[in-house]
Amino acid sequence: MMNESSKLHRLLKNSRENGHPLLKSAAALSLCAAALVLIITRNVAFASSAAAAAPEPVPAAAEELAVPQAVEEEPAPAPAREYALLCIDGQPFFAFDTVEAASAALASYVDLFSGVGTDSAALAENVSVRVAPAEDYLLRAAQEFDDLARILLHVETVSHSHEEEFLPYESLTVYDDSMYVDEQVLEQAGRSGRRVTLTEEKALNGMAVSRESSVTVDVAPVTEIIRIGTKEHISTGSYLWPSEGVLTSKYGRRSVAVGSSFHKGIDVADAYGSSITASDGGTVIFAGWESGYGKLVKLQHENGDVTYYGHCTSLLVSEGDVVRQGEQIALMGATGVASGVHVHFEYRPLGGDPIDPLLVLPER
Ligand SMILES: [Zn+2]
Repeated sequence: MMNESSKLHRLLKNSRENGHPLLKSAAALSLCAAALVLIITRNVAFASSAAAAAPEPVPAAAEELAVPQAVEEEPAPAPAREYALLCIDGQPFFAFDTVEAASAALASYVDLFSGVGTDSAALAENVSVRVAPAEDYLLRAAQEFDDLARILLHVETVSHSHEEEFLPYESLTVYDDSMYVDEQVLEQAGRSGRRVTLTEEKALNGMAVSRESSVTVDVAPVTEIIRIGTKEHISTGSYLWPSEGVLTSKYGRRSVAVGSSFHKGIDVADAYGSSITASDGGTVIFAGWESGYGKLVKLQHENGDVTYYGHCTSLLVSEGDVVRQGEQIALMGATGVASGVHVHFEYRPLGGDPIDPLLVLPER
């Protein structure tokens, strides 16, 4: 205050002593106004601080009398009843009679949002229970806990669901020329796959807030593989006469010039050099000279049976050749031990001992 006053005084003094009177008086006026504002401001500030301090100056005598009387004459207050204060972030919001009642109310509230598939349910807020005296509004709040909780407390639930997806298998056909056309093999059994999608959903008071899906199990389908043969059959399974000639000797025991012998096949006679044909389709397993048989062809058929064509004059096939039924394989002659021009024909089931060819040949 003294500074402003002295400054003002000095300025006023200067204005009188120097410069134009008008200008000086105007400057003085504005300075006066500034000083006044300062003074008013100071006064207000003082007044308010004085008002705030006003209750303090109490008559010393009254104060000294009142305080000792209150302490000595009034009986000690009964200890306030304590309650279980349910606090959110440390602040009490509800007062329950007992800690158990507070816990039960809280648990039943959390349970409201736990359903089937709920893995966890927890309060988003930091909730604690403190035992202390309670104010009335906290007791009233506890009576409306169910309604108020929905506003104040948020139950965070995490639930899982899973969805299974069926994955059908594919079928692959493999063609194999080492197998006959009517053969088929299931090389690999097909198996369906399965995809399981797990979804985790988080919710606050039952309202979904996030949803995340992930494939957790993935059983890949197994492709079915079917192997199918493409090889054409060379055998029919039935037999034809190897020559158009006539049957001259049957299968079995027969008399010869020197004693008797067992005839292992049949003889069919025709002109020298006439055609000898495959009784059924097959593979040439022998084409050459064999003692007694002379020039001989052995055919193995698909079923494993073997047929012999002996005493040929010439062979038209070689070992390993595949021939069809009725195909010419040799020319008739009398090589080996032969009484005349004919073909000696044997039929050996599965390549074993010969049996009577007439059992399998068509009647003539
Ligand atoms: Zn014979």
